[in-house]
Amino acid sequence: LIDVFEKAEELVRRDGNDFSWSGWEDSGDALSEIHAIIAKLRALNMPANARVLFVPTGPLQELSLSSGWGDEFIRLADWYDDAEATVDCDCYSKPIGEFGEAIGTDARHADVFITRCAACGRSWLRYLYEFEFISKSGRWFLGPLRRELQDQVTPENALDLFEQMLWYFAGGSYYDGKILKVAGRPIL
Ligand SMILES: [Zn+2]
Repeated sequence: LIDVFEKAEELVRRDGNDFSWSGWEDSGDALSEIHAIIAKLRALNMPANARVLFVPTGPLQELSLSSGWGDEFIRLADWYDDAEATVDCDCYSKPIGEFGEAIGTDARHADVFITRCAACGRSWLRYLYEFEFISKSGRWFLGPLRRELQDQVTPENALDLFEQMLWYFAGGSYYDGKILKVAGRPIL
């Protein structure tokens, strides 16, 4: 959820933004509201005005439409919905152990699965890779899968989907058994 508001901050800071219909005076006004929300989230409080920023015709959407980044706003609002729905679920702090539904095997003989969290319903994309002749080569990646992408996962596009995620878990012998939160293209 904090990631979502940090992205909102980045959009609000853009040069050429037109604040006339947003209800905010200027970027300073918008940023102070966003910073207050991030501060509450860091203190593990859910701010009452968090959702208001993302409602249709709310301040951020009005700003996005008059400033030419309406599509980015829609994507951010989708992230917000997902983040809000799952904010309390353990699956975001502790990777789910069960593999779930097998999708297939890619050209590297890595196995791809979709795992559904029984508690919150969030789907996770999992990629398991091991090069059997090299020790410490085993690694797995597990990341939150966007709803509209669930039917589109194939073994071949799995790595691209990880690359598009804000973050995902990485673990296995390659990482000395540690579990990390990483972003970018998975290391193979
Ligand atoms: Zn969950």
